[in-house]
Amino acid sequence: MCGVSIGAVRHWKYGTRRSKQAAPRKFDCPRCHERSLDEQSYAYLLGLYLGDGHIVHCPKDVFRLEIACCDAWPGLIHAAAEAIKAVMPSNAVGYRQRQGCTMVGVLSKHLPCLFPQHGPGMKHTRKIALAVWQEDIVTKFAEEFVRGLIHSDGCRSMNRVRRPLKGGDRWYEYPRYTFVNESADIRRLFTDALDRLGIAWKQMNRKTISIARREAVARLDEFVGPKY
Ligand SMILES: [Zn+2]
Repeated sequence: MCGVSIGAVRHWKYGTRRSKQAAPRKFDCPRCHERSLDEQSYAYLLGLYLGDGHIVHCPKDVFRLEIACCDAWPGLIHAAAEAIKAVMPSNAVGYRQRQGCTMVGVLSKHLPCLFPQHGPGMKHTRKIALAVWQEDIVTKFAEEFVRGLIHSDGCRSMNRVRRPLKGGDRWYEYPRYTFVNESADIRRLFTDALDRLGIAWKQMNRKTISIARREAVARLDEFVGPKY
C-alpha cells in the first residue's frame, strides 16, 4: 500500500540486501554451451524421465521437469535429486508434496535441449525416439538407463505359482522384475537396453515386460535391486 519494495522491508528487518552474487547462476547448458555432461547420471535421469517424469512449459520460456517419486521409497527421492544435481549443478532442486508421492523437480530454459522428447500431450500419444547423442550415452551407460526406467515404472516382486502335482499341488515363488509403460516406444528402448546387456526378457501382456529367468534376475539385482 505504501509502495515499499520487499527488498527494502528485508533490509529494514535483517539489514541485508540480495546481493548480485547470491542471485542464482544461469544453467550453462551442455548442449548450447561448452560444458561437460555427467553422462552416467544423465542416463539414469533419462530413464526416470521416460518412466515417471514430465516437462511443462511455464511462463517466460522456462520449463519445469518433475519426476514423481513414490513416498514408499524415500531412497528414490534422494537418488532422483542427486541425478538432477549432477546433470544440472547450478540449478536448485525443488520438492512438491502430492498425495503418496513427492515431485522432485528443477526449472530451466534448457530442459528441452537435454530432453528433446518433450512435446505436447502424454508420452504414449507421441513418438519417442532418442537423439543420436542420447543413444550414445544410453549405449555407454545401459545399466544406469535400465535402473532409471525400473526405478520409475518397474518393480521387483515375488511371483507365486502353483504347480499341480499328484497328491497335492505345490506352491513355489521366485523373484521377477516387471516394467509397465503405456508407450510402445519406451518399452522398446527398455528392451533394446536389456538386449544390449544380454538380459532375457518376455512380453507379459500388452504393456508389461517381465524379466523372470533366474540368471537375468540375478544380473539385474547387481545394479538395480528392489526399490528402497
Ligand atoms: Zn540449451
